[in-house]
Amino acid sequence: MTANLLDFDLEGLAAFCGTLGEKRFRATQLFRWIHQKGATDFDQMTDLAKSLREKLKVSAHLQALPILTQHESKDGTIKWLFDVGHGDAVEAVFIPEDDRGTLCVSSQAGCAVGCRFCSTGHQGFSRNLTTGEILAQLWFAEHFLRKHLKTSERVISNVVMMGMGEPLQNYSALVPALKAMLDDHGYGLSRRRVTVSTSGVVPMMDRLGQDCPVALAVSLHAPNDALRDNLVPLNKKYPLSELLDACNRYLEHAPRDFITFEYCMLDGVNDQPEHAQQLLQLVRRHAGRGVSCKLNLIPFNPFPASGLVRSPQHQVQAFAKILIDAGIVTTVRKTRGDDIDAACGQLAGDVKDRTRVGERIAQQRTVMLKQVPADARAAKET
Ligand code: SAH
Ligand code: SF4
Repeated sequence: MTANLLDFDLEGLAAFCGTLGEKRFRATQLFRWIHQKGATDFDQMTDLAKSLREKLKVSAHLQALPILTQHESKDGTIKWLFDVGHGDAVEAVFIPEDDRGTLCVSSQAGCAVGCRFCSTGHQGFSRNLTTGEILAQLWFAEHFLRKHLKTSERVISNVVMMGMGEPLQNYSALVPALKAMLDDHGYGLSRRRVTVSTSGVVPMMDRLGQDCPVALAVSLHAPNDALRDNLVPLNKKYPLSELLDACNRYLEHAPRDFITFEYCMLDGVNDQPEHAQQLLQLVRRHAGRGVSCKLNLIPFNPFPASGLVRSPQHQVQAFAKILIDAGIVTTVRKTRGDDIDAACGQLAGDVKDRTRVGERIAQQRTVMLKQVPADARAAKET
């Protein structure tokens, strides 16, 4: 088995190059070829010595993820479904806006947390993605989009780990991927433009603060433990007071930052004025000093098995007003890519029903590859 170069951050690549008897600056050159230029063929890497290129050909490869489908929304949102083998598939979504381009990336096939309102959670857990599989989503999307949009400039300015899976339950693969995103020789994204979203894996929040303090979003969804136990089962292990303590500890590593609390609005469940009041008390009074935060209200994206309903807009507005009037910065997330099921919580990837996915993969591979642009096919074939 040769090494998959997408599995490495720059440190890891330097160690790998060391095993080939190569100096660190060679690793830096190689890293730039892969991530900044999207090279897939070692012969393209003309400033590397021919002897190194020959060594790489026998000891390394670049493992792109096969693309099952690609859908583009009317609003420019693009969703890809990637095959990660054995009937599992994961999704990534590109969301263009005037001043930024955001890629929503998956960290696991399925998810073990099992939140009631989340389609991925309802599918169950299949497996952790590798660093290479996490980075392959960004690597492919960035270089595909440059060609698609006919630009040589960077297209993806922000990454959110808000696709399928709980990133902090796949910590060892996540951190090198984040480091490659931040590295000036990689994607060069600033720390505040890479967001890890978590349902609240407290010990790993502490580790992330120490290892790689990127922006943190915490999926709160309820203002008291009884309700949160029901919506986000992980709350039974790490209840709200521990979660908010961990948020404050995290901010010690990122002093001028804030935590974004995500709150999915569920009709009649967590969207009443008293919930807004409780939420206010929680974030203001916690540990006597409150938590420096912003609140992001997410319209629930319904799916039949959830038995839940999206809160009506007037209810969301009334909820937001209570918080805004009390001085909490509160936004309501715009839904994007609705026509292609690319919105939050709809990233199912059909991981559980392996038989059906297996069949679908077989069918779509033939059908879709005709439709996927040539450069996507090239990446797949490396
Ligand atoms: N596991 C992580 C990140 C992936 S989920 C987490 O839970 O934070 C990304 C975001 O989508 C989370 O805030 C999650 O609560 C939200 N989400 C999940 N299902 C949703 C749905 N059906 N409608 C709206 N938001 C949803
Ligand atoms: Fe997992 Fe996040 Fe979905 Fe909960 S909301 S089931 S943690 S992906």
